[in-house]
Amino acid sequence: MIKKIGILTSGGDAPGMNAALVGAIRTGYKLGKEMYVVYDGYKGLIENNFTKVDEHFAEDKMAHGGTLIKTARLPEFKEEKVRQLAVENLKKEGIEALIVIGGDGSYMGAKRLTEMGINCVGLPGTIDNDIASSDFTIGFDTSLNNICDAIDKISETMASHNRCCVIEVMGNHCPDLTLYAGIACNADYIITCDRPLDEKDLIKTLKEKKAAKQDHVIVLVAEKQLDINELVKTIAKETGWDTRADVLGYIQRGGTPSAMERVNAIRMGAYAVELLDRGIGGVCVGLVDNKLHYYDIIESFDLERNKHEDLYRTFDLIK
Ligand code: ADP
Repeated sequence: MIKKIGILTSGGDAPGMNAALVGAIRTGYKLGKEMYVVYDGYKGLIENNFTKVDEHFAEDKMAHGGTLIKTARLPEFKEEKVRQLAVENLKKEGIEALIVIGGDGSYMGAKRLTEMGINCVGLPGTIDNDIASSDFTIGFDTSLNNICDAIDKISETMASHNRCCVIEVMGNHCPDLTLYAGIACNADYIITCDRPLDEKDLIKTLKEKKAAKQDHVIVLVAEKQLDINELVKTIAKETGWDTRADVLGYIQRGGTPSAMERVNAIRMGAYAVELLDRGIGGVCVGLVDNKLHYYDIIESFDLERNKHEDLYRTFDLIK
């Protein structure tokens, strides 16, 4: 029976990570474990930067975004000799299991550590919602709310000036933040990997909206799709809309985690400890149809991303 469990956050930070810590730490102490936090992701493992915490750790930070135990990227963790040092450091402290909160890259590190004798469970921590094994990742809901708040505000000023705004939304290569925000904010047009730019259609749509005397238009573009400054020039030239570009940036990633975020993160953190207590490792946790599941990490990479045809249909229906 394992006695000591460590937790780290890795890759990009996401609101809700602190709530996941609380879920795991509270559950750990309920099940008679000693709980450790590792600072700076995998870097903390090789620098011996971890410490035992009590059962109340992070409770007062549940309403804060970011990650209390910091995060970092350590490309060298792909090298076996670097991971070996991490394993030795953990074993010296008697830590036999680890919860890794992060994205795909962090999951890979967790799988490799499991193969080297440290049982690991991965939790999906990223605003991008780009982990196929979970309907929702920790951070997605809060980020979506941030984005909607920003679009609502931008819309007010655009309407006052009768302008068009092209807004770039985060998500790495995943369209979910753009698609959900497009519906929630009644955007006029969205461009994602599933709906690449169709210039003719975009121009026709925006001209129609101008002819119908709509007082402003909002075009959402998922990041890594195209250069929005170029698109602004094209729209202004072809449609006559006075057009602006806005990259929302890091504001999307901060702020108080939503209540649903906290609930989901706490559930996942608690479940991770239960899995480790049962001796299960090398897996990642997902929330599917509001139920907790676990998947082998390598197999989870082969799961197909939800293409959300139903949500695109909803978007089209309200246009
Ligand atoms: P994310 O976890 O959000 O996908 P990254 O891809 O940057 O973010 O990965 C986070 C960290 O996970 C990396 O800095 C590295 O320490 C570790 N990692 C990524 N890929 C691997 C791998 N193939 N093997 C071992 N560790 C990895």
